[in-house]
Amino acid sequence: MNTALIYHEDYLKHSAGPYHPESKERLIAIMEIFRQTGILEQVNLLTPERCSDEDILLVHTHEHLEYIKKLSEGGGGPIDADTYCREDTYDIARLAAGGEILAGRSVIEKKADNAFALIRPPGHHVTKGRAMGFCYFNNVAIMIRYLQKNCNVKKACIFDWDVHAANGTMDIFYEDPSVLNISMHQDPRTIYPGTGFIDQVGEKEGEGYTINIPVPPGTGDADYVYILNEFVLPRIERFKPDFIAISAGFDSHRDDPLGSLSVTEKGYCKMTSSLLNLAKRLCQGRMVVELEGGYNLDAIAKSTYAVINVLLGLEQEIEIEDEPSKPIKDLRLALDKKFNALW
Ligand SMILES: [Zn+2]
Repeated sequence: MNTALIYHEDYLKHSAGPYHPESKERLIAIMEIFRQTGILEQVNLLTPERCSDEDILLVHTHEHLEYIKKLSEGGGGPIDADTYCREDTYDIARLAAGGEILAGRSVIEKKADNAFALIRPPGHHVTKGRAMGFCYFNNVAIMIRYLQKNCNVKKACIFDWDVHAANGTMDIFYEDPSVLNISMHQDPRTIYPGTGFIDQVGEKEGEGYTINIPVPPGTGDADYVYILNEFVLPRIERFKPDFIAISAGFDSHRDDPLGSLSVTEKGYCKMTSSLLNLAKRLCQGRMVVELEGGYNLDAIAKSTYAVINVLLGLEQEIEIEDEPSKPIKDLRLALDKKFNALW
């Protein structure tokens, strides 16, 4: 497979603050494993450009754009307890969204079969009008809107496996039936951002097209793969998207210091390969994986390596032998009941 890897050295310039978990070391660790294992010789390495203000305004309010721009121009300042703006935040956050757009375009324009956007800062917590959770511009949402506007993509699906609910992406597409937005995450009663419940299903025309799948702490590969196979894939199949994006946060990994889930490289592999196979059936294989969270350097490097191997078509068939747990089987029944009633 021809897999595009989107990366820019300037992603290392972004600092979320001293001792912050969302650090440049994350991308350094991933690029290091890519170098050591020869992945860099196998991918189609593409260098992105900054996206335009016009691209950002496809998703965010004018006030939000001006807020980030002015705060950066003024030398930066705190946004909330764990999100800090610095003088180059506007610049590098635009480069992250530009990287994501390039990933989407390279697949749509058939310059690559699929793509991995190795970008930072992440994006899935920022809403239309509010930066939060280490995020300034919503990269995946900007890519989807860009593709809808410029590349004839009508319906897109996002599957987010970050340990934290994708509250920002949810806010952006909450009333939009053209984007099936699925977030599978640790029970928000036990972790940031405290939202992402099963009853949050979208509103107005978008009712039913936001799907939140909260799982208890400790949930691992067998449970994730079960929900994916038994609920998520059939739903996506029914939706028939033209394009699939995975918001890949590797903080759902069992070794992550911020999350309490138990997913491993094997689980990420299996999910990527199942979604890629589905994309091949539904939308000419058009799929992009984009980086969100993940704060254990070893786990994030090995997990990203595992996912890129699947994208390149190098991974062997993966078997997950464990049985799903009873609470997860019950969750699947509850999800089926709720969404079968909606569409
Ligand atoms: Zn996260």
